[in-house]
Amino acid sequence: MNEHNNILTDTFGREHTYLRISLTERCNLRCTYCMPAEGIALSPKSHLMTYEEVYTIAKLFVDHGVTKIRLTGGEPLVRKDAPIILEKLASLPVELAITTNAVSVDRFVDTFKKCGIENINVSLDSLNAEKFKQITRRDYFERTFNNILLLVKEGFRVKINAVLMKDFNDNEIVDFINFTKNHPVAMRFIEFMPFDGNKWNLEKTVSYQEVMDKVHSHFEEDQIIRLQDAPNDTSKNYKIEGYKGSFAVISSVTNPFCDTCNRLRLTANGHLKNCLFSSSESDLLTPLREGKSIEPVIQKAVQAKLKMRGGMDTLEKLQNPDLHGKNRSMIAIGG
Ligand code: SAM
Ligand code: SF4
Repeated sequence: MNEHNNILTDTFGREHTYLRISLTERCNLRCTYCMPAEGIALSPKSHLMTYEEVYTIAKLFVDHGVTKIRLTGGEPLVRKDAPIILEKLASLPVELAITTNAVSVDRFVDTFKKCGIENINVSLDSLNAEKFKQITRRDYFERTFNNILLLVKEGFRVKINAVLMKDFNDNEIVDFINFTKNHPVAMRFIEFMPFDGNKWNLEKTVSYQEVMDKVHSHFEEDQIIRLQDAPNDTSKNYKIEGYKGSFAVISSVTNPFCDTCNRLRLTANGHLKNCLFSSSESDLLTPLREGKSIEPVIQKAVQAKLKMRGGMDTLEKLQNPDLHGKNRSMIAIGG
């Protein structure tokens, strides 16, 4: 254990070196699995972190050992001062990354390059324009798809996240993998997870096993290569022999990876969440604005982190709406 890291090390010895910062609760899409159709009650603007506050809090985490920061949301790029935030965070000694729906990334290519961003995660749940519209409730397929191609062309390392839902887009698994034949992208299939208001049920989740069954029934055994997962990786990685890209499954529902978790999350209103699934959060912004030290609050939150999925350590518990329904909607957490 690194002494430097102490306040970010939990009672299970997990060192938290990765901070995900949500810049906004707003979005230019309305993905059904992420937010309720009626939207969510947004925090008043005065309750959201300013760019200076984002920087101050991020710097403190970096001083305590965080080596990677990912900006997320809502859609981080709808925030008007997103370029300023990116530039300020780029001055920290940290790997900077972003997760975006790619709708407007064409306007940010130069900023990303200037800020040294190399890794970009984008969301794309279907290769079919009509289905894209159904899931996102917006008609932006072409824009999104072309922007993903643009990012690849500009040399960014692109991971494409697709949330799989049974009888909706699970018939596209092979199409998505075939997309990696000529494009050097990492395709990641995410198990649909339960959050407040997203009408989740286990039957809609396409499991890791089901994805791999599909892969094995379509490709020859010796074509399917298991890749080495990176440390703290949330995904199990594969590729098809000779394809330029790879694919992976993120299985938080059927195979959680909590033992090696190194992530903390900061919401747009400055609350620290010690786990994606935990319904408890710790307000950092109020004490920061009162001029108090926020380190004790951070330390207490990290110490309170439970071993697995915010305490929902079995599938039965995860399925209980009284438990997962207490959490925020994903759009207000920052996935
Ligand atoms: N707007 C950006 C985007 O869509 O990439 C960043 C925020 S979004 C909340 C981050 C990631 O969370 C996306 O890849 C999205 O697919 C994923 N996500 C949202 N709701 C989810 C759910 N219920 N289950 C699994 N993944 C989810
Ligand atoms: Fe917006 Fe991303 Fe949520 Fe879709 S998944 S509604 S793009 S924040």
